[in-house]
Amino acid sequence: MVEKCAANAFPVFETLKKVFGFQSFRPNQEEIIKSILNKKDVFAVMPTGGGKSLCYQLPAKVMEGTTVVISPLISLMKDQVDAAVENGISAAFINSSLTTKETASVFQKLRSNSLDLLYIAPERFAMQNFLETLKTVPISFFAIDEAHCISEWGHDFRPDYLSLSIIVSVFPKIPVAAFTATATPKVQSDIIGKLGLRTPFTVRASFNRPNLLYRVESKRGLEKQLLDVLEKYEGEPGIIYRTTRDAVMTMAETLKRNGIKALPYHAGLPQEERKANQEAFNTDEINVIVATIAFGMGIDKSNVRFVIHADLPKNIEGYYQETGRSGRDGEPAECILYFGRGDIPKIKYFIDQIEDEKERRVVTDKLNQVVRYASHNVCRRKQLLGYFGEEYPDDNCKTCDICTGNVERVDITIDAQIIMSAISRTGQRFGIMHIIDIVLGANTKRIRDLEHDKIKTHGAGKDRDKYHWHFIVDELLVQEVIQQEGDRYPVLTLTDKGKKVLFGKDKISALKREEPKRKKRAGKESELGPYNEDLFEKLRSLRKQLADDQHVPPYIILSDRSLHEMCRSFPTTHSTMAEVSGVGDAKLERYGDIFIKSIKSFLDENPDIEIAVERHASDVGHRTAPEKLSDNIATGTTFSKKSKTVEKTYELFKQGHSIGEIAKKRNISLLTVEAHLEKLIMDGRDIDTERIIEPSKCEEVGRLFLTLKSWRLTPVVDHFKGSVSYTEAKIARAFMRQKD
Ligand code: ADP
Ligand code: MG
Repeated sequence: MVEKCAANAFPVFETLKKVFGFQSFRPNQEEIIKSILNKKDVFAVMPTGGGKSLCYQLPAKVMEGTTVVISPLISLMKDQVDAAVENGISAAFINSSLTTKETASVFQKLRSNSLDLLYIAPERFAMQNFLETLKTVPISFFAIDEAHCISEWGHDFRPDYLSLSIIVSVFPKIPVAAFTATATPKVQSDIIGKLGLRTPFTVRASFNRPNLLYRVESKRGLEKQLLDVLEKYEGEPGIIYRTTRDAVMTMAETLKRNGIKALPYHAGLPQEERKANQEAFNTDEINVIVATIAFGMGIDKSNVRFVIHADLPKNIEGYYQETGRSGRDGEPAECILYFGRGDIPKIKYFIDQIEDEKERRVVTDKLNQVVRYASHNVCRRKQLLGYFGEEYPDDNCKTCDICTGNVERVDITIDAQIIMSAISRTGQRFGIMHIIDIVLGANTKRIRDLEHDKIKTHGAGKDRDKYHWHFIVDELLVQEVIQQEGDRYPVLTLTDKGKKVLFGKDKISALKREEPKRKKRAGKESELGPYNEDLFEKLRSLRKQLADDQHVPPYIILSDRSLHEMCRSFPTTHSTMAEVSGVGDAKLERYGDIFIKSIKSFLDENPDIEIAVERHASDVGHRTAPEKLSDNIATGTTFSKKSKTVEKTYELFKQGHSIGEIAKKRNISLLTVEAHLEKLIMDGRDIDTERIIEPSKCEEVGRLFLTLKSWRLTPVVDHFKGSVSYTEAKIARAFMRQKD
């Protein structure tokens, strides 16, 4: 990174840091920006969250004249303009949501050449007077966002986009840069052709989203499964996708009953309600939005920490797009698919309604691909990228359930033979459920009527449970040892490969994995390591307040990544605050002091942290290495001049003074004294905790921290409904964290 800051690149890196507050470019951004600065057309396919906006916002700030951005969604336009303005870029938009007066004022700014960025809706280009105005002002370049909308081959064709074709003829000297997150090679050449791009600098970025963790779980008791996940994410934003409107409504109700701030979203709700619910989600008023796939376009919310598919998606494209809405800020996010075979016939039912046979086949193939994705024991990331024609090079992606689980290859020939024997002995005329019933030795009426209790395989697998046999059947289907025939009532039959296995001519094995150990609060460990969660809560609510005051979504004020960083490096000066990713000059000026104040008061209340920070700062200068720093906090063994004040508290406590007395005597706050005691206890010093909390209570409270897997005080204090004070909880917490 350092050597990249060559003199000729000066304004670009300077702008990246000063305006956007970022330390380095994401893949391809630098090359794209340089092409634009060199007046060359650009065509870029980059995944959601890849950072496309920066590719045109940065040159817009650097270049002479106004950059015109064409974007299809009114709601997105406003958020993008708000975000740019927050960064100190002069930006505005024109679309149908503005009054005539507001529009006139934007035109005024445009004419006086005082705009860096102008967002407009595509239909403007069909308006002659608009074009005439544009011709009279200096334009640096045109950026076309969501460029796939111009292609009829794409999935989101918008006829209005066709009018953009005239840009290159009306403004032949001005470069055009087109961006999209989805374009097959066919759509790509269609876009380039329709826009008339002139041998553009072309980027097809990797679709890999390294910060997303992919997981598939069997759907068993969905409600409990979801509540478990939501508990882990307490209060952080996420999306739950469901297939039907009914399911959306019921689930939103259930979640609300369980105390979760959730709202529904589907195309059948009245428009105002839909809009209000989306807004509530966007502004962190609520945490969870339960939605059909109608939800997602038109939000750029960067701090979505999880996306759950509670039903089987219809195809991989959709799944990738929907999961892609999480973790735009680059911080870890989790994508969970609850897979139940029961969902397959429901989707098949809809597929059956399709009249055109060819289309029906295409849609069925797509569904089969999703089923394979969910049931095949192959790295999820490899499968997803493979679908888009991209080869994932590593053997272990480290961030999917397959790669993080304990995978072991086991021989399943005998189990396969049991299943196939049951299929074969019943004439290859029955479905999965019935075959598994036979193998398990079930005594159902159907089995008795058909005399399937008389065949040799009846009960042959009763020493294993039904989940095991479902796993075997899934695996045999995936490996095409058996197959399903018939659409409405599919029956299992043997393939040629299967016959070989049945007659002992071939063996078959499967990757069997243990459920991965549940990652402790996957969402709370950012890429750079753990951060202080208590401070995060504090800064998050401060961000929410500021956002509400200005009527913008919180992530526009500062991203989760920026807050996480603050909760790791505890910046208390302008220079350290400026080092935080996402804090550029404008944000430093606007929010620096208020966040610094909040961090300072937090450190005041928690001097053990301050000690570590100060010690670290004096060791290595103000730029702190996160891992090292958090080590220091965790072990709490660092001492410095600050340790003297802790020692003073120790002395007084040993002399028999209470917390209140010490605070008074030393003229420091109660919170500080408590923090001193916490530190002393953690360090294993001789502190008589019984003077503050009774031993059995201390143990009970302490154990709850372990159960909750979090050192946060509030949930514990709340749990005891008033019978445990914060002071007591702190002492119990320190007691549990004591080093032996
Ligand atoms: P896209 O439009 O490609 O989906 P965005 O432009 O909305 O993505 O960017 C996603 C997020 O990534 C935003 O929060 C943005 O601030 C952040 N981002 C963009 N470029 C960088 C960078 N170089 N370093 C850090 N964060 C970045
Ligand atoms: Mg975008």
